[in-house]
Amino acid sequence: MERYLGQGAAPGIGIGPAVVWHPQLPDQNAESLPESPAIEQARLGAAVEATKRELVQLKSRTEHELGLEEAQIFSAHLLMLTDPALVGAAMELIEQGQSAVTAMANAVMKQAAILEQLPDEYMAERAVDVRDVGARVLSHLQGQVQQLPLFKAPSILVSKELTPSLTAQLPKDQLLGFVTEAGGRTSHVAIMARSLGIPAVVGLDGISDQIDSGQLVVVDGITGKVLVEPTDMELTKWKQRQIRMESRHRLSLALASEPAVTPDGYRMALMANIGHPSEAEAAIKFGAEGVGLFRTEFLYMDRKELPNEDEQTEAYQQVAAIMAPRPVIIRTLDIGGDKDLPYLGLKREDNPFLGWRALRYSLSRPGIFRTQLRAILRAAATNENIRIMLPLVVAVEEIREAKSLLIQAEKELDLDKIPHGKQVKLGIMVETPAAAIIADKLAQEVDFFSIGTNDLIQYTLAADRQNRQVEKVFDPLHPAILRLIDATLTAGSKAGIEVGLCGELAGEPRAAPLLLGLGLTKFSMATPSLLPVKEKVRSWPFQEAQALATEALSLSSGTEVRALLKRMSG
Ligand code: PEP
Ligand code: MG
Repeated sequence: MERYLGQGAAPGIGIGPAVVWHPQLPDQNAESLPESPAIEQARLGAAVEATKRELVQLKSRTEHELGLEEAQIFSAHLLMLTDPALVGAAMELIEQGQSAVTAMANAVMKQAAILEQLPDEYMAERAVDVRDVGARVLSHLQGQVQQLPLFKAPSILVSKELTPSLTAQLPKDQLLGFVTEAGGRTSHVAIMARSLGIPAVVGLDGISDQIDSGQLVVVDGITGKVLVEPTDMELTKWKQRQIRMESRHRLSLALASEPAVTPDGYRMALMANIGHPSEAEAAIKFGAEGVGLFRTEFLYMDRKELPNEDEQTEAYQQVAAIMAPRPVIIRTLDIGGDKDLPYLGLKREDNPFLGWRALRYSLSRPGIFRTQLRAILRAAATNENIRIMLPLVVAVEEIREAKSLLIQAEKELDLDKIPHGKQVKLGIMVETPAAAIIADKLAQEVDFFSIGTNDLIQYTLAADRQNRQVEKVFDPLHPAILRLIDATLTAGSKAGIEVGLCGELAGEPRAAPLLLGLGLTKFSMATPSLLPVKEKVRSWPFQEAQALATEALSLSSGTEVRALLKRMSG
């Protein structure tokens, strides 16, 4: 028996025979001497067009079989075919006397090598996509058809790397697991494996030369373990583990479709915090009733310039379409503090969390803000579930200023005759003590609140949320925090507006009865917390939670509140 340790990329245990697949690279030697650059360029042009047609088909097939998000991979591939660094570079090499095949192969190699060297894991993994698109164009140039691995029975597919186009074409019912040399958690094979529910281990260097087709393999997509030819004892152990895991998974997924309702009939809404459109589908799978916080910073990160309006519109539309009809709260840019964008040239600040951050930044850069507001409004044209949320508010003037920019953006869109959402709901994050204290005034200005405890705690207790030295001071159950949450909920309910909570505290099952008792009905959290919090909500009668909250509010320290929670939870 051999054991290997890679990176778990999609959960689950897969057991079965290996199909080891070595992708065939197009044979450059079979190429005849280049004709004139004009002829070679025309050949490349035709191959690129044929590839585009193929990708459009593959995109619609994937959308149908796997979903919108997976299909986006092929939109990205289509975009690559318009990138001057790829086809443009190949055209130039042809000018220098290379054949279409050699030029394209060289351009692909160069571009993939550049991407692979980038420190950012997500970008580095796009090298796989470049090679994938390149191989497609090359196979058109050479009239070859891409070979697919052969499955005689359900198997574990082992390969150097799995390209998105290959993964999309594989027979899903024959796949028990994936093991690849390349890739990390953000690689497409990982994303696809997760949405297909197929266990995957990635990043196992040299594995495709270590395993032979037909050998029995065990794949653990959580720990990253791969066992080849396990002993009978090991095999029995893993089979039992697989059965236990599958039944746990079935049970928790069953809970996902159950409502978050207390035993005495009070209904809560549990929503997801996401930072990327690719997280929306998993959120639904785990029962999210909406996106309570869509952090838009991802759109601005890992790049060299600001994202344009179209790009943003597409990302917002994508999430809204996946989640519809559930609400999606899009938070405007929350940059500064701990999140820098090198290309904006933000100055170093002595106290970045107290500095030029979030809404303050957006209001003083109306051009950037305007682009984002226009994009959200455009996405809302066909998606009524979209809402807008402003981060880090301390004063009514900030809201009014943002509102006037929003109205201006609407007017511009009208003038440009571009469809957009009308009367899109606008809310704010209550994440500063100032906002919580004047919540009654702020409530007159907006349609909803969402309490951001991560920042609320750091600003109230003067404890940097990232500084481990003051970790103990950063106490979510400090009575000051509970009182500010209580004040915000009360102000919201008096004004008749919705109040949610989207800080990490919402995802803490232990705190759920307390928040419930304080009157919170909308919890937004990271997807993995949805089921544990739901379990808690379903076990705590509201009446008891209320008594717990009343008592907690009268206590004088976080330690006392924790002791109370422990006592009441039995
Ligand atoms: C918060 O501050 O609680 C919050 C949800 O926003 P972020 O963590 O993005 O600052
Ligand atoms: Mg915050």
